[in-house]
Amino acid sequence: MIDFTVRISIFLVVFSSLMTWQWLAPRGALLQWRQRWQHNLILLMLGAVCVRLFQPVLLSFVAYSNQGAGLLSHISLPFWALVLVSILLLDCLIYWQHRLFHTVPLLWRLHRVHHSDPELDVSSAIRFHPVEIVLSLCIKATAVWVLGIPVEAVLIFDILLNASAMFNHTNVRLPAKIEKWVIKLVVTPDMHRIHHSRVSAEANSNYGFFLSIWDALFGSKRNHAMHGDAGLSIGMPGTKAYQPSSLTDLLMMPLKTFGKSRKRG
Ligand SMILES: [Zn+2]
Repeated sequence: MIDFTVRISIFLVVFSSLMTWQWLAPRGALLQWRQRWQHNLILLMLGAVCVRLFQPVLLSFVAYSNQGAGLLSHISLPFWALVLVSILLLDCLIYWQHRLFHTVPLLWRLHRVHHSDPELDVSSAIRFHPVEIVLSLCIKATAVWVLGIPVEAVLIFDILLNASAMFNHTNVRLPAKIEKWVIKLVVTPDMHRIHHSRVSAEANSNYGFFLSIWDALFGSKRNHAMHGDAGLSIGMPGTKAYQPSSLTDLLMMPLKTFGKSRKRG
């Protein structure tokens, strides 16, 4: 229960701080925020009802049940180093999971709900189909079990990942001098915007949600949009203007077939 209270409190503090930041210094005008926020917040609530409430319980159970029995138990490390290695492994896993959701057609059907947001701001970070959230949880729980990741590392990683994902979707721009350094380690809004391009080649890059090192290491990092930031069109990859118009549209999107423009992001 303490675990859940900590998570929800940090989520609210980070979310409202980023919301204030993008409100005070927006990088661009948000013309459709009313409907988008309505959709994104309802998706967050549906996801929470499906899984989020059970996430700490499930992951803690898995972490405890495999204490001292996973792959990491064969390496002798001080506890702080074990936590650090676990965080790196989990972040690398999330990178490949995200890449997989772009590559496997059935998984892409779920993930494209996230990419159907026609504008990006902090609320885009909570826009996921509930089934994708459940699947992600199962993948993470399996990794925690197989690797024997300590429960403390799971908690720290979840907080870092959520905060980072909210940050890199926020409608802000870091000063160029700071951006230059931060992007070497962490995914910035400039970097993640490119991943939300309608151009498939751009959407198939910058898969990281927290550390940017995986994109650099696995050859998917793109520092600049093809036609510059001003020429970047945000939305469903492979479509020129598609966007879901209602909540039902959003929830049924995985079943929808896109005619000629049915291209994976
Ligand atoms: Zn994606």
